[in-house]
Amino acid sequence: MLKGFGHLKRIRGASGAAKSYGIILTHYGEKRRTVIAHELMQVSQYERLGGIAALVRSHLPDFIANGYRRSILEDEAYSREDEIVQAQAN
Ligand SMILES: [Zn+2]
Repeated sequence: MLKGFGHLKRIRGASGAAKSYGIILTHYGEKRRTVIAHELMQVSQYERLGGIAALVRSHLPDFIANGYRRSILEDEAYSREDEIVQAQAN
């Protein structure tokens, strides 16, 4: 497992993960544009919020209250992945 992605083994059903500018995809995820778009959206979030440490600091209360899968950032990434794929198709 690549350094920094060890947590992937614990995320059941994960098709990919992003950390800073690194993206790792499963064989399932690498074939799906929505998964790639989702991870690129998360890279964009890292950039927008000033890096992973700043992202965690600013969104920790949300992660604790709602869990990562139901957090504002994850919701944003899921809601924009189809939009990104559609934009690429045009
Ligand atoms: Zn995600």
